[in-house]
Amino acid sequence: MVNKIDLTERQSKIMDIVKENGPISGEDIASRLNLSRAALRPYLGALTMAGLLEARPRVGYYYAGKNSNSLMSSNLRRIKAKEIKGLPVVVKEDTSVHDAIVLLFLEDVGTLFIVEEGGFLAGIVSRKDFLKSCMGGADLQKMPVGVIMTRMPNVICVEPEDSVLEVAMKIMEYQIDSLPVVRKEKEGLKVVGRVTKTNLTRLLVELGGEA
Ligand code: ADP
Repeated sequence: MVNKIDLTERQSKIMDIVKENGPISGEDIASRLNLSRAALRPYLGALTMAGLLEARPRVGYYYAGKNSNSLMSSNLRRIKAKEIKGLPVVVKEDTSVHDAIVLLFLEDVGTLFIVEEGGFLAGIVSRKDFLKSCMGGADLQKMPVGVIMTRMPNVICVEPEDSVLEVAMKIMEYQIDSLPVVRKEKEGLKVVGRVTKTNLTRLLVELGGEA
């Protein structure tokens, strides 16, 4: 079954014990498996993180009763943009298109964010924008990126606390590769990160291999 998360043998045993006996203390689970509490801890940590087990102080561990499908969807709602974001690569609006393209290669990214003094978002420029500018025959050393960027308020952003589901939905809806992660301040939108299709794919791989 494609959407069923595979558990290791030890994790499956723990799940069986908890399903049958929960709520059950960590010590009890450890003694049933002939393990020390310390050796068991990482397994319990992973199962709780994955949402398969829940833990309550003084109550113990119990089965969260979720199948892997609702588990995936609750993960996508629970995990925040700030947990998967990377560093933004930014330039000023008066940077030449030539220098911006050099930076794109140096930083190995597909999109640059254009910022004003203080790191506030002014626009975004992608590979296609650069290709278009190259076809026009203009002097790329002289042309500023500000001329070719997608400008605020038309830039689609997310905030650090937004869920990764929201990130994925915006990327799909607007057919773009990346979103600036911004914090609202009174002077504007402060750029604090970048989320891309690659970040989302990496998360998928992590969630798929977690259990
Ligand atoms: P690529 O150029 O590599 O296909 P995108 O699909 O991300 O990259 O960009 C396509 C167009 O959408 C470009 O004109 C770009 O300026 C614009 N764009 C990219 N990201 C955003 C965003 N977050 N908000 C608004 N427009 C964007």
